[in-house]
Amino acid sequence: MKVITPGSTIGIIGGGQLGRMSALAAANLGYKVHIFTDQKNSPASHVALKTTISDYSDKEALYTFAKNVDVITFEFENIPYKSVQILEDLSLVRPGWKVLHVSQNRLREKDYINSIGIPTAPYKEVRSYEELEAAFKELKSDCILKTAEEGYDGKGQFKVKNETDLKELWNEFQGDLGVLEGVVDFDKEVSVIVARTEDGKTKCYPPVENVHKNGILDETIAPAKIKSSIAKNAESIAVKMAGELELIGILAIEMFLTNDDEILINEIAPRPHNSGHWSIDASITNQFEQLIRAVCGLPLGNTDAHSNSIMKNLIGTEVTLWNKYIEDPNAKIHLYGKNETREGRKMGHVTTIIPNKS
Ligand code: AMP
Repeated sequence: MKVITPGSTIGIIGGGQLGRMSALAAANLGYKVHIFTDQKNSPASHVALKTTISDYSDKEALYTFAKNVDVITFEFENIPYKSVQILEDLSLVRPGWKVLHVSQNRLREKDYINSIGIPTAPYKEVRSYEELEAAFKELKSDCILKTAEEGYDGKGQFKVKNETDLKELWNEFQGDLGVLEGVVDFDKEVSVIVARTEDGKTKCYPPVENVHKNGILDETIAPAKIKSSIAKNAESIAVKMAGELELIGILAIEMFLTNDDEILINEIAPRPHNSGHWSIDASITNQFEQLIRAVCGLPLGNTDAHSNSIMKNLIGTEVTLWNKYIEDPNAKIHLYGKNETREGRKMGHVTTIIPNKS
């Protein structure tokens, strides 16, 4: 197994908060970080040694980046997978382009998940108003129409009910490829993050419960208060997926837990995930350090939670609440250094540790 030793340079594609927290973890282990982003003044660039600002498809910039780093990983999915293929010819890229490609398109993702015997919500591909009408009839329930690509945090999603004017909705949708999904009447939303090394060793974080507001993660309760048999089942799904995808790195799997204890996969992300932010303050090895360990060929760390915790995202103007949370000695505040506060924008998070009773 190739080991990238401390002192080497890790390249991270993407300059957001996930890149920032990955860079901080890398620095703790003695690595240098080089960020590749298309944005100026990005959160990750504030804490990295070097930043390349360029279009993600600029071949020359990709070439120079690859030559200047020892291993490359990514912190978000909306990078052209062809750029990742270019980088793979030049350097070590972990995870590789195949996992990214699966996760970039909701249809491809759901087809893949079902093909390895893991269930999702029922869904249909829709490319026109006529297909939307037929799919809605066939699914026979309330639905959500989602863009196949580039939707996140509930963006590009529309509720579909019996009274919905489908023609109007399709006009508003503005995508050429959509996924119509049956609404799942879930008991809880949970997620599992799994790390996997080149030699196939895996470690899962305990499942956590996620509470969304307007399609955006609002709170994570870690660990989730679910039966241990369900937690085991969720973890074994995560391990199976990481193995099937030959993942080197970390993979987050969002799941719906139904009232009859069935687990349906919503989506996957081959990178650190918002629902793993609690691990910075309440687990033995946080998800960002685990990513660095996995991509550098180091042994994985212990993923146990040492405390129960609740992670609250600070979205938009909620960022101003930092001065309330700072009064709580058990609240750990993380602000991402974003200059502009916008509605729906993740500006920071707070993890409140629930003290152990002794
Ligand atoms: P997504 O971008 O697909 O993760 O969707 C964002 C959030 O919308 C999810 O975390 C759920 O809270 C909700 N949601 C998405 N798809 C479904 C579904 N098929 N059934 C019920 N809720 C859903």
